[in-house]
Amino acid sequence: MFTLKIEAEHLLYIRLNQNKLRSEEYIHLKDAVATKKNVDDIGKMAILPSTFTGSPRQMHEYVQDAMTYVRSYERPELFITFTCNPAWPETKEELSYGKIATDRHDLLARVFRQKQQKFINVLTKMDVFGEARCWMFSIEWQKRGLPHSHNLIWLKENIHSTQIDDVISAEFPNPEVEPVLSDIVEKNMIHGPCGNFNMNSPCMKDGRCSKKYPRQLLKETQIGDNGYPMYRRRSPEYGGCTAKIFRGKEIEIDNKWVVQYSPLLSKMFHAHINFEYCKSVKSIKYICICIHKGSDMAVFGLKKANEHDEVSNYQLERYISSNEAVWRVLSFPIHERHPTVVHLSVHFENGQRVYFTRENAQEVDSEPPRTTLTAFFQLREQDPFARTLLYPEVPRCYTWDSRRKVFVRRKKGTPVFGSDVVASEALGRVYTVQPNNSECFFLRMTFHTIKGPNSYAMLKTVDGRVCNTFRETWFAGR
Ligand SMILES: [Zn+2]
Repeated sequence: MFTLKIEAEHLLYIRLNQNKLRSEEYIHLKDAVATKKNVDDIGKMAILPSTFTGSPRQMHEYVQDAMTYVRSYERPELFITFTCNPAWPETKEELSYGKIATDRHDLLARVFRQKQQKFINVLTKMDVFGEARCWMFSIEWQKRGLPHSHNLIWLKENIHSTQIDDVISAEFPNPEVEPVLSDIVEKNMIHGPCGNFNMNSPCMKDGRCSKKYPRQLLKETQIGDNGYPMYRRRSPEYGGCTAKIFRGKEIEIDNKWVVQYSPLLSKMFHAHINFEYCKSVKSIKYICICIHKGSDMAVFGLKKANEHDEVSNYQLERYISSNEAVWRVLSFPIHERHPTVVHLSVHFENGQRVYFTRENAQEVDSEPPRTTLTAFFQLREQDPFARTLLYPEVPRCYTWDSRRKVFVRRKKGTPVFGSDVVASEALGRVYTVQPNNSECFFLRMTFHTIKGPNSYAMLKTVDGRVCNTFRETWFAGR
């Protein structure tokens, strides 16, 4: 309740400062969110900005940032879901007599936050699966539940298909050889069992398991056509182990029910860690689903009061679990990544002051605020090297000084061949524009083809001729 109160106060502030927010969010200085609304309706809208943690606009930004990694480095190889384990000794040791872990979400949240940090360090700094090029994770909560994180890792080198069995397993370990791992797998890495063992399992949809269990037993790991490996699951005849587990009564199950796991990570973290290795197109969709789920709709049958009111809509759909509440009060992040993605603005000439009200009308007469775009136009005059760069490439070699509103050369990084400039791993991303906003959409496209422009006129020039529109420019240049 307390957290909802904090959040409500924050939302009230947002509601009372709409003029400022609209001007920043809506004139394509920030990502356009799919909307049927007319630009003329902006005055009537209540915008929930992307700076608000967990807002749909922020989720949209995360997906776009993930796409920036994909554009630069193709798809991530590793998808790992790491789930908080309430039985971790770090939590249990701190409980007073008679309490269970879920009575102490403050403890669970702190322990999970630290485990998550260690987890991402193991993956990206200790190079256990090879050197990582980039990574990101998002924290989510099951309704009323414990947190889990979705981790995406881009590796510099692919895991070779012959190495997959060393890295990922979908089998019970031999309890005599690996007693500790065997215990962890039996406690954390068994799906269900559902189906004939339990028709009422939550995974059952129309009489079948929605997670495709029980899986097929296989002698050898195979890479499927869809890019997902089908892991080795040996039957007892071929040396596969079985396990006796207790679900109301003791049952014996084989490798059909094992969720694929990383023996190394499972041993280190004693938790449910779903480990997926993939090189397929489908994984892109998965990234979006992972990051973009947003809050679960907890209020049913209520009509939305005002479709222009993002703040009310957010509050209406908001459900906050005890664990998430603690997480927010402690200001733990719900998303982290590396390297930085620098957001670059896109707008027409003087477009950065399009939105104004009676209150800020005088600002319209004054100098329009400098943006990353206008600063980029100026940069080539001060630094000839900038003429060799596309707009999205600028953050690699320059940092954005948001106070002075200028780009300055980076001081640390790897030298760029044939120049005295250094480059970092930072990536630039121009804010997205919806295609139905056609002129601005084509303006944005020119940023990805024309190097070092000094003005809008130069962006509109094809073979010495200045086109009338950016749309015309785009098709003339094809
Ligand atoms: Zn199932």
